[in-house]
Amino acid sequence: MIRFRRGWRQGLPGKLDLLTARQDGQFSLAFQPIVESLNGSLCAFEALMRWHHPIRGFISPSIFIPVAESSGLIALFGEWALRDACQQAASWPWAAQVSVNISAAHVRSPGFPSTVATALAISGLAPARLELEITESVRLDASDEIVGVLDELRSFGVRVILDDFGAGWSSLDVLRRFRFDGLKIDRCLVSDLPSNPRAVAIVRAIIRLAGELGICVTAEGVEDISQLQIVRDLGCERLQGFLVGKPGPEAVAPSRHLWLISA
Ligand code: C2E
Ligand code: MG
Ligand code: MG
Repeated sequence: MIRFRRGWRQGLPGKLDLLTARQDGQFSLAFQPIVESLNGSLCAFEALMRWHHPIRGFISPSIFIPVAESSGLIALFGEWALRDACQQAASWPWAAQVSVNISAAHVRSPGFPSTVATALAISGLAPARLELEITESVRLDASDEIVGVLDELRSFGVRVILDDFGAGWSSLDVLRRFRFDGLKIDRCLVSDLPSNPRAVAIVRAIIRLAGELGICVTAEGVEDISQLQIVRDLGCERLQGFLVGKPGPEAVAPSRHLWLISA
């Protein structure tokens, strides 16, 4: 049976719409490959939540994740994404990592480290294969409390990545207070490469910063060969984007022919 509440307020779903859709099994995960920029070898897949509404169609996570955050549902959704992503990754034929997006609000909620430990234990996934991408739709305050939680997660052997760096709420203070394993350069900067010299300067500086901090750097949203070439030449270690592979319902290893063309 399709349950459909008419008239989302201002086109936005509410808490009840999210809960109903979850009960009806309308949420799933899509997986997008992340590769090494030097040779195209597979490193990881990012798990991205998808909502296929039977009437409204595809609803972007940039619409429903903020609703989950503001309505107090983010821990429920985040836990489901973690468990499902770990479960699927445990059955892949490759030892690739799985990157799961975690809202800062979820990291702050009580018991988050045990949620991660449980997802690992149930799936049997090695902790080193799990990456948590901390997303900042609200400012990620580098409080002692949050730094303590992130430290605990790293002590499990899980990798912690700062997502969307260079856009929105990014602050250098979180990089000062906590040792992330990596950062991802936001798509808005990559999409301006190579034509915008200011974007080139900022991306170069971020890659240099990551190098100085000894952490891995990934460029998001690489859509064409010129972007691949410039981020690789600037020393970016990993890349992700439609050029390499789009998110899909199954984890699919990308073809390496691009590296022959772009070498
Ligand atoms: P994100 O974590 O930065 O994920 C990357 C977004 O860029 C994804 O959008 C992906 O589909 C898109 N993308 C990747 N490569 C390209 C490209 O070459 N060109 C273009 N135009 N787009 C590209 P998506 O799936 O719409 O997700 C949007 C955001 O929603 C994510 O940004 C993340 O912040 C959030 N999100 C998605 N799934 C989850 C989740 O399970 N939990 C949480 N907390 N947030 C999630
Ligand atoms: Mg992400
Ligand atoms: Mg991102």
